[in-house]
Amino acid sequence: MDNATAQAPVSTTTKHVTFRIWRQDGPDKPGHFDEFRVPYNKGANVISCLMEIQRNPVTTDGRRVSPAIYDAACLEEVCGSCAMNINGRVRMACSALIDRIIGDGEPIITLEPMKKFPVARDLAVDRSRMFEALKRVKAWINIDGTHNLGPGPRQSQADHTVMYKLSTCITCGSCVEACPQVTLDNDFIGAAAISQARLFNMNPAGKMNAEERVRGLMGPGGIQDCGKAQNCVKVCPKEIPLTTSIAVMNREVTKQVIKDIFFDLGDEKKAAGGPG
Ligand code: SF4
Repeated sequence: MDNATAQAPVSTTTKHVTFRIWRQDGPDKPGHFDEFRVPYNKGANVISCLMEIQRNPVTTDGRRVSPAIYDAACLEEVCGSCAMNINGRVRMACSALIDRIIGDGEPIITLEPMKKFPVARDLAVDRSRMFEALKRVKAWINIDGTHNLGPGPRQSQADHTVMYKLSTCITCGSCVEACPQVTLDNDFIGAAAISQARLFNMNPAGKMNAEERVRGLMGPGGIQDCGKAQNCVKVCPKEIPLTTSIAVMNREVTKQVIKDIFFDLGDEKKAAGGPG
């Protein structure tokens, strides 16, 4: 079918949902919206509607276009890849139920890529800054080898409960997107990495590298750039207590700064021939 004769899937009898979808070929390319109509299905979510559009990518004004590109994998809020702005609010497209988004009358749902990450194409973004931030705080446990080292140190139930919640982060980037301190061209580390530093510093084996993680939160783009807007905690799909994590790690950074001052003073005294 050529472009001129393509038919938009319009019916006057079936209820439809209209999607305005941001189209952009790359990070530095101009963008625009394309509009599509999808038959309403009870229980549908945004990803299932995007799949519907993919099957017949004809706009409401009858143009056959390339299907919109988006990231999605697990479709159950585990992989974290389908975060996008839906009617101006960042959320996971897989758990965004159409019924909950639309009101009465002709519903229009606007889909845009997250704006704090470079656009890869259409709704898909490059979330490398999230992974660079995790590297900065060494968000992992170093291993001594792959041989059996026996059971690890015991953890209290209270610590385990906190750590379990922190471990549910899916690196979706929603907290970064909602943070007013983050811009496309700055390097603020963001709430997710701060919270992961807390998680791995609580781990009995991870404590060995606790200071390195705390130091990872210091310096340009570090935790001190947090403006305490608290948007992160409001949008986190996993309801991770991000503001608590930021407060906890802020205290750790302050302690480290004080320790550094005393060590520096001690070193200066030693250099001057004093007792240190
Ligand atoms: S902390 Fe929450 S919002 Fe931020 S990346 Fe993890 S799951 Fe997503």
